This record gives sequence, C-alpha cells and structure tokens, in this order.
Amino acid sequence: MSLVERDLAVIWHPYTQMKTALPHVPIVRGEGACLYGEDGKRYIDAVSSWWVNIHGHANPYIAKKVAEQLLKLEHVIFAGFTHPTAIELAERLLAILPSNQKKAFYSDNGSTAIEVAIKMCLQYWHNQGKPRTKMLAFKNAYHGDTFGAMAVSGRSAFTAAFDSLLFEVEFIDLPDASNIKALKSRISYLRSELACFIFEPLVQGTAGMVMYEVEYLDELLAHCKQEGVLTIADEVFTGFGRTGKLFACDHLSQQPDIMCFSKGLTGGTMALGLTTCTDEIYNAFLSDDKLKTLFHGHSYTANPVACSAALASLDITLDASTMQSIKRIEAMHSGFAEKIKHHPKIKTTRQTGTILAMEWETGSSTSYFSSLRDRLYLYFLNAGIILRPLGNIIYILPPYCITNDELNYIYAKIEDALEEL
Ligand SMILES: *Cc1c(COP(=O)(O)O)cnc(C)c1O
Repeated sequence: MSLVERDLAVIWHPYTQMKTALPHVPIVRGEGACLYGEDGKRYIDAVSSWWVNIHGHANPYIAKKVAEQLLKLEHVIFAGFTHPTAIELAERLLAILPSNQKKAFYSDNGSTAIEVAIKMCLQYWHNQGKPRTKMLAFKNAYHGDTFGAMAVSGRSAFTAAFDSLLFEVEFIDLPDASNIKALKSRISYLRSELACFIFEPLVQGTAGMVMYEVEYLDELLAHCKQEGVLTIADEVFTGFGRTGKLFACDHLSQQPDIMCFSKGLTGGTMALGLTTCTDEIYNAFLSDDKLKTLFHGHSYTANPVACSAALASLDITLDASTMQSIKRIEAMHSGFAEKIKHHPKIKTTRQTGTILAMEWETGSSTSYFSSLRDRLYLYFLNAGIILRPLGNIIYILPPYCITNDELNYIYAKIEDALEEL
C-alpha cells in the first residue's frame, strides 16, 4: 500500500471533512523553506507549516541542540522539580519581553497557553474574593480549539456544535477611529464584570490575516488598565519576528498583563506553550492558602527537549542576520504587493511584517467563490508551493530563511494564477 492509502486507513486529519478530502500529500523530508514529497517533488512551504516554522525545516543547529538535550535529560516532572533548560529559557525570554512580564508558566501548545491565561485571570479575581467571570474578545478572534480557547474565539462553523456550552464572552469590533469611543464606553459599562480582555495583537490570523492599527489597540489597552480589566496578548501566531518586530506587542506603547506563546517558540520543531505574566498576577496566587494555587499542569510541562529547541531557535532569532532576513522579506512582499494591487482580480492587499495577504475578487457567482479556494490551493500545490487560502484570501508567511529566488518563484506563480484562474 502507498503512504496515501495507509494514511486514509488509519488517520483522522484535523480540520478535514474526511469523506470529501483530497489525498494527503506524504512529506518525507524538509530542508530550509522546502519540503519534499515521497516522490521527490519539492514544495516551498509558504505558510511555514501552519505558521510554526521560522528558521527552516530540519534546521541543523536546532537538531544538534535537541539531540544533545535528549542524551542529557529527556523529561522530568515539573512539580517539585525543575531543570536548567526551562530556567534559562524563561530567563532569556523574560529579558526580551515587555518589561512588566516577570513569570513564565509552561504548557504544551498554543491552546493550552491560552487556557492557562484565562484561568490566571479568572482565579486572579476569585482569589481576591471579587469574582469576575465575563470576558472581552474581538469578533472573529481565534485563540485555539480547547474549550476555554474556543469560548473566547468568535462563534463560527468551528464552534457551532458547542456554542451552547461556551462561557459568556462579550465580542467587540476591532478598534478604529470611528468606533473607539463607543468601545471604550462599553468597557466602562461592563467593567465590574470583566475578568479580562484577550486579543491577537495587530493581526487576526485565522480570521483571514485581518490587520488593525497600533494606535487604537493602544488606546483600548490603556482604557482597560484604567478600568482595572486585565489584558491578555495572544502572541501564539505573531510572536518571534512575524510582524517585523520580535513581538507584536513591541509595536505598542501599552504592555499587556499576560502574554501567550507557542507556534514559533521552538522554531516549529516541538510542541511547547508558554504563558507569561506580571508580578501583580503572580502575587494574587502567592499565599499560605492552598486554595489559591493555580491548579494547572500538563504531563509534559516544560519538557526539556522542547525547551532546548526553543533556546536554539531563540539563538537564531536573535542573530542579527535573522532580523535582516525579516526586513528583506518585508521589502520583497511590499514590492510585490505594489505590483499586483491594481490587478482587477485583486480586491485588496495587506501586509504586516513578513505576512502578506491578498484578497481575491470573487465575482458575483457563488459557485465560483465556493470552488475558488480549492482551485487556488491545488494550483499552487501543483506548482510546488504550499499556500492554504483562507476562503478567497491568499497569504504568504514564509520561514525567515526563504531565499529571494524562492520568494520570486511564489510571486511569479501568483501572477500566473491571476491570469489563469
Ligand atoms: C494557532 C493559534 C492558537 C492555538 O495554538 P495551537 O498550538 O494550535 O493550539 C492560538 N492563538 C492563535 C492566535 C493562533 O494562531
């Protein structure tokens, strides 16, 4: 049996209606920005493998550090015990995060990093005998697939089967010049009930690479602070250079109370989640009373191998050449956006850092629209490029090591698609 047949026999893939799914492409090897199929076909990974890979596939430096760690200590229970790799990672990250971030709490992935943040906020109020249970989030937000993370995500087809079980969240529009006043007064009105405000800073990835302005986010955050509403920055997607700065919050003048990381944290090598917080949050749990403990921990919390991958990835991220690559990709993207933005089939283009999104004109025919996504996906797959359109939105967010030749090839194929599809 081929890999495709064996896959179909035993695997249930995420986000996939298995009955109508296209065959899943077997990938057997990766190098730099490229992946290689069983048949040797090369694919440029223009989506960084679900946005996680920032330094290329099978990165030799990360592999070496992970191998060394595996032979030293593969895992240890993280309650009652600690290990140097987790400590060093927390020290090094807290040193480069916004200055109010003082403590690091490890978990397994982006969704669990969000769960931890939500529990920190709810229990922060509970521990002080002033329970607050409502949360504030943006419409169309995406914060993960576990229940808490799903609850603070926009209601959609993703959540429909569970909507009645999700806790109470007030969803607001993204802030802009026209609504900022109204949003602030809504927050003031709800303030005594609001435990926290959770947001994806500057770019809502899953919503379709929807981007919004620093200025109004800053204003919202300042208002939350004034009204005593805790703030959670979900940097699971935006962290580690994606937006052109190390963290999306580095674009802001306000600092969130809590930050969540995963995706790029290990360079896309291993699953690891991290939630950081201020001393104020941490101190609300610091007590002689056992009931004030944050009762949350996963078996693989702070796994040393994952932490070693994160440290290795951080070494590369902080190397000056990486920021140069990020700036190079930014400049390449904006040159390409400039070139195609007036094409009749392009509705809009938008860019933040290394993320370039292009909204495709869908015309009036709904059947054309509904098949467009799959036709685009297959067109690029055939051309040896992995692009996963979100509806009619195509986005490129490559590993930072992608070459100019590889980027130019992607751009050329997008131009071909504009003519041919
Ligand atoms: C992917 C993502 C998550 C969830 O992370 P997982 O590791 O997939 O659970 C949360 N928030 C944002 C903004 C994301 O893009």
